[in-house]
Amino acid sequence: MKILIVDDNEDAKIILAKTLEYNGHSIESAANGVEALAMAKKFSHDLIISDILMPEMDGFQLCREIKMDPDLQKIPFVFYTATYVETEDERLAISMGASRFIVKPIEGNAFLKIINEVIEEHQAGRLPLPEKPGEEETVLLRQHEARLTNKLKKKDKELKLREKRFTYLLHHDPLTDLPNRRLLMDRVGQAIKQAERDKSILAFLFVNLDRFKWINDSAGHDTGDRLLITVAKRLKACIRSSDTISRVVGDEFALLLGGPSDMEHVSTISQNILETMAQPLRFDGHDFSITASIGISLYPMDGCSGEALLNCAKRAVYRVKEQGRNAYQFYSEEMNLRSAELMVMRTEMRRALDREEFRVYYQPQVALKTGKISGMEALVRWEHPEKGFISPGAFIPLAEETNLILPLGKWVLETACRQTKVWIEEGFPELRVSVNLSTRQFQHEKLVDLVSSILVKTQLKPEQLELEITESIAMKDVSKSIETMSRLNKLGVQWAVDDFGTGYSSLSYLRKFSFDTLKVDRSFIHNLLTNPDAECLTSAIIAMAHTLRLKVIVEGVETKEQLAFSRSNPVDAIQGFYFSRALPPEDFTTLLREEKCLES
Ligand code: C2E
Ligand code: MG
Ligand code: MG
Repeated sequence: MKILIVDDNEDAKIILAKTLEYNGHSIESAANGVEALAMAKKFSHDLIISDILMPEMDGFQLCREIKMDPDLQKIPFVFYTATYVETEDERLAISMGASRFIVKPIEGNAFLKIINEVIEEHQAGRLPLPEKPGEEETVLLRQHEARLTNKLKKKDKELKLREKRFTYLLHHDPLTDLPNRRLLMDRVGQAIKQAERDKSILAFLFVNLDRFKWINDSAGHDTGDRLLITVAKRLKACIRSSDTISRVVGDEFALLLGGPSDMEHVSTISQNILETMAQPLRFDGHDFSITASIGISLYPMDGCSGEALLNCAKRAVYRVKEQGRNAYQFYSEEMNLRSAELMVMRTEMRRALDREEFRVYYQPQVALKTGKISGMEALVRWEHPEKGFISPGAFIPLAEETNLILPLGKWVLETACRQTKVWIEEGFPELRVSVNLSTRQFQHEKLVDLVSSILVKTQLKPEQLELEITESIAMKDVSKSIETMSRLNKLGVQWAVDDFGTGYSSLSYLRKFSFDTLKVDRSFIHNLLTNPDAECLTSAIIAMAHTLRLKVIVEGVETKEQLAFSRSNPVDAIQGFYFSRALPPEDFTTLLREEKCLES
């Protein structure tokens, strides 16, 4: 059968067409009554299935036109409609000569059964004829039109509501319901105009959560989201109704203090925010502590546009982060200079590799059982021709940012492996070298190939290489980390978890990865004297690491007392200034030759 489907809803049309086509019918479709009428006149259809509510010409009008046309009235007409059906609609439809009035939703087979009945009736010449439009029909039609108008109004209202919602979403962050960056910038623009007229000062606060990324990566995104919602609530509680608070992106929030501000007022609010944020949080039985760093810029001193104020406030936040987080700071010109300095450093760093300005130093790791050097950690240094010695803490993060970490890291790895091989051949066969990997290096898809090719090239046995990553690096993409680690592990390469205790510090999580060594962060050993809990905590970490069959290295041993503490625990090796700082290879060779030992 050749069937014409009339519906303004594309999806509904497609589903219907598929069902019918599957049952052997051929289908044509129209989007409204006008189109359908023109098509019906041109091609002789065996059946018309039509929706009611459509633009231009609705289903009733179409039915009336078909049934009044002597050439078309023999085509059976079926209504197939969903929303807002009234019992009167069915009566009206039948009186107009429609064969059926099907209401959605209807199960596919039931629908097909009805369609087949209609076709059979038609073939048997039993077609309902339209009643002459009598008084009743006129009344019904009028009622229908009234309802139609209502429905259209309702549709219109819905549309307006939807539009309103859309505008809202365009200007708000769906997670926290706070104004987003777009709305914030709009408000800043308005506030600046007002302040210009009043000759007043405006304050713009950029609030960035400390270590949020780490919480998000380690505790999961759901927890991260809940945390952000709580943070938004806490921020709201700190401000007046005339202030604007916005979630700019991720863990970055911004505050525009409405009305004139002076430094003291801004400082009080910032302090208040820091204190409110630092209150402990508890989700699903886990405690979280979150702190924030705040950068502040002022109109008109620091900038005369929303973007300029945001940029200055961001720069001030970087400074806060550098100085240890959980504080606020006003923007100053000098910060501009500093970021220019960083730019220069980035450029210089790119050249430094070619100019061979980097050096690898080696810090001994000493086995407590024998007192002898069992291995060494390779630590990169930059010997800048003018600035002198630059520590990795100052340039590794920059290298990571600029991707330079990949060639630099490769160079360090190769240099360290080659040097270790030299020492081994010189008569120190037991040595193992530890090399630090940064996030990008660890996540790089070619890491396994790179390490294997360097091992081949330098002839170092895989067992004599240990790679160090921090927990947070491992936790970034747990399943990928497990895979990378086990692939290298199979070759014989060892893994160490570095700076343990500064991150998520979950020993049960650690079990998932194939770590061989755990390095207790030096903050633990440093806090032994000042923090009475530190001793307990450090001993507990060491004990648990042992249960997991991990080799334990205590980092940052500087004093006799710290050495004694390490000895009183099941620690395998220590590393720290007490025995030796990181040394250039020639000095390390001397240390080896002298057979320097830890005194018993
Ligand atoms: P890390 O891997 O935890 O390295 C140990 C750091 O602690 C070294 O700092 C070392 O000099 C220092 N240290 C060792 N013993 C003591 C001590 O007794 N007291 C104190 N206060 N510090 C001690 P360094 O060389 O400045 O390196 C800092 C960080 O830079 C390293 O921390 C590591 O994360 C990173 N790094 C160093 N070299 C490389 C490298 O080649 N690649 C990558 N990706 N990162 C590196
Ligand atoms: Mg390390
Ligand atoms: Mg470390």
